[in-house]
Amino acid sequence: MSGLKSPVSSLSFEVVAAQGEARAALLTTRRGVIETPVFMPVGTAGTVKGIRFEALESPELDARIILGNTYHLWLRPGIETIKACGGLHKFIGWDRAMLTDSGGFQVWSLGALRKITEEGTEFRSHVDGSLCFLSPEISMEVQAALGAEIAMAFDECAPGEATYDEARRSMELTLRWAKRSREAHELLQKERGSSPTPGEGADADETSALPARQALFGIIQGASHLDLRRESLDRTAEIGFDGYAIGGLSVGEEKHVMMEVIEDIAPRMPADKPRYLMGVGTPEDLIDAVARGVDMFDCVLPTRNGRNGQAFTSRGKLNIKNARYAVDERPLDESCECSVCHRHSRAFLRHLYLSGEMLASILLTHHNLAFFLDTMRRVRQAIRSVQFAKFQREYTEQLKSGLES
Ligand SMILES: [Zn+2]
Repeated sequence: MSGLKSPVSSLSFEVVAAQGEARAALLTTRRGVIETPVFMPVGTAGTVKGIRFEALESPELDARIILGNTYHLWLRPGIETIKACGGLHKFIGWDRAMLTDSGGFQVWSLGALRKITEEGTEFRSHVDGSLCFLSPEISMEVQAALGAEIAMAFDECAPGEATYDEARRSMELTLRWAKRSREAHELLQKERGSSPTPGEGADADETSALPARQALFGIIQGASHLDLRRESLDRTAEIGFDGYAIGGLSVGEEKHVMMEVIEDIAPRMPADKPRYLMGVGTPEDLIDAVARGVDMFDCVLPTRNGRNGQAFTSRGKLNIKNARYAVDERPLDESCECSVCHRHSRAFLRHLYLSGEMLASILLTHHNLAFFLDTMRRVRQAIRSVQFAKFQREYTEQLKSGLES
């Protein structure tokens, strides 16, 4: 055991309905209630690319929580700037809940540009090429300054095809970093409690029923090796976190391998804490993972693919540059209720895209986020009305019917 007491959680998590392993819950933060299963749009540099905050808050999308990337914000504009502007929420103008990642994954994805030691990770900044160093302690400090409701432990990610020994080494390092993250986080939360400087203490618009501390989630690693995954889960849970994430998936392994890991691990994760699957995936992946017990998701797919001319629909992916849409007057998705589908045709969106108009990216991003968020809304309703298995079956059938039927 780590010797650390269980944290007094700044989140409350209440499961309100379950069907099989799928569950619907209420995750309460100081900045509002988040119904789960939930999709969190990714706001890499403090902005969800291609969409205004008003649209994210509108009843049409109603994103209750978004993600910020520690690595990107740390390098630019930098923590001193964000602190001087009153913390990340005030800086970007977003009052709802946020989660920040630890920076571990971004640094990992730099590949050859990084060097990992026991102490942390050394890497070259993608902004100006300068040498930077990130460790559990630095990540916790940066995340405390950003001030999101949920922070993530600093982890190391083994590649999907890692050998057993590589995956074990990486998992053991992640466990040592998890303990250091937790200890650093505790110290920072004590300071936060005793000196409520702007952006670090309780904001006036926050509800005060929960303690003014950040929640911290631990991350389970172990690549595709189920015994390592189980060990990682047990030992991470021993350290004690406010929630648990499955990391290191969707990094090049086959999809059936990813689902095997989720199926084995998610139901073993503490039932009274949120379970977060990091960086996954398509709407079908989300539904499949919900069926295996996952509550929270983030992914760049709806925004990134939107910018690249791809729409997610109930009948599969639609590439707007395809010539077959040149005079197609139908909306992107005939069963989508979003404002883009109400107003615009595939033909017009294709024209915008081919003309290089920025509105193409904006409209496709809007539809994709609306589609992801609405899918999760329907997932929650289905679980609450004990119709989830039927919902999943019908969703899959419609997807298989394809765009041309
Ligand atoms: Zn739509």
